[in-house]
Amino acid sequence: MAPGSGSLSSLRELNRLRIVDFLRINGTASRAELARRTGLARSTVSTLVSDLQRRGIVVEQPGQFAGGGQPGRPAALLQLDPSAGAAIGIDFDHDRLRVAVSDLSRIVLAEASARYDVDHDAFGALDLAADLVEQLLDEVDIGRDRVLGTGMALAGPIDQERAALHNSTVLPGWADVDAGAELEQRLGTTVYVDNDANLGALAEVTLGAGRRARFAAYVQVGSGVGAGIVVDGSPYRGARGTAGEIGHVVVDPQGPLCRCGNRGCLETVASTGALLALVSASRGHELTVQEMIAEALAGDAGCRRAIADAGRVVGGVVAGLVNLFSPEMVVIGGDLGEAGELLLEPLREAVMRDALSEAAAGLEIVAGELGERANLLGALALVLMQSEHEVAARVAGGAAA
Ligand SMILES: [Zn+2]
Repeated sequence: MAPGSGSLSSLRELNRLRIVDFLRINGTASRAELARRTGLARSTVSTLVSDLQRRGIVVEQPGQFAGGGQPGRPAALLQLDPSAGAAIGIDFDHDRLRVAVSDLSRIVLAEASARYDVDHDAFGALDLAADLVEQLLDEVDIGRDRVLGTGMALAGPIDQERAALHNSTVLPGWADVDAGAELEQRLGTTVYVDNDANLGALAEVTLGAGRRARFAAYVQVGSGVGAGIVVDGSPYRGARGTAGEIGHVVVDPQGPLCRCGNRGCLETVASTGALLALVSASRGHELTVQEMIAEALAGDAGCRRAIADAGRVVGGVVAGLVNLFSPEMVVIGGDLGEAGELLLEPLREAVMRDALSEAAAGLEIVAGELGERANLLGALALVLMQSEHEVAARVAGGAAA
């Protein structure tokens, strides 16, 4: 249903949608907060909320009250009725699939993950993802009719027109694959596609370390290096969908050849693969990321040096991002984020040294709170952000009932 058509065109319907939208994007709110944030009168909010409660779209959160209410009269916290719909999130990581189902109040109802060579076998990964979704929906007994949509996180620059990865050399296994359409065919739901770092950013600003920030950047340092930029609660993708691709900023023109075809990209010196190659070579046996971080935390000089150097070089590129975009907060996530201050301290120093002092003034650089689930939770958040038409149809459907 197109916005503004049919019964939605009435002012009352639009105001009702503003309340639903606020709860959809922010999770919970008291009536007073809804009035403040939507600009509607308190009495209007009360009437509309009662209406939405009668239709089973909004409920009071049991036992939860907002702070700052009148003494003795705590303000009830409202949320969308969890059972009014469900969202599916899928994170196609390089070597792993993560799948989750959540309700409308953002509670994850079921979750699964499996190791898979996602980079090199797109169709196999899509099939496996569809199987996992099927299992999860059965497990929590949710019918397809209740699913609002599926959020899909892909590890590369996204062509939003095609809902697929750009046909670049970054992920050759996904070139020419219409990822969104293929997944829609398998799942029978609307599919929303975005870059994994954009979704990690969305999750950290809605649920994690960046909750207070209007302008935030999320930097993911793992098997790939990328950034997501969030402006006023929405991911900023740019004209070509490649905004935030810091992993392919050249930091050493004579450096190693990158999978993008260029030389000395940030990713070739700061990704976990690059660091593991260094520390493994220096000791003659292979290490995993977790082992490298554990050894660094236990004091191993080589592992500490490799992680600190990565922090410095990432920090140099983040300084450029800070100059260009002026965020109030930079959240660091990805596998290497687990190294904590061993990565963050040199990264922060490099940003403070290289960025314009006015741009860096008051800037917070913090560790992400959501760990390896950030992209998956972002895929779920994307569905709740994007599915306004489906929610609108439910609001309007309730009016007809
Ligand atoms: Zn590159």
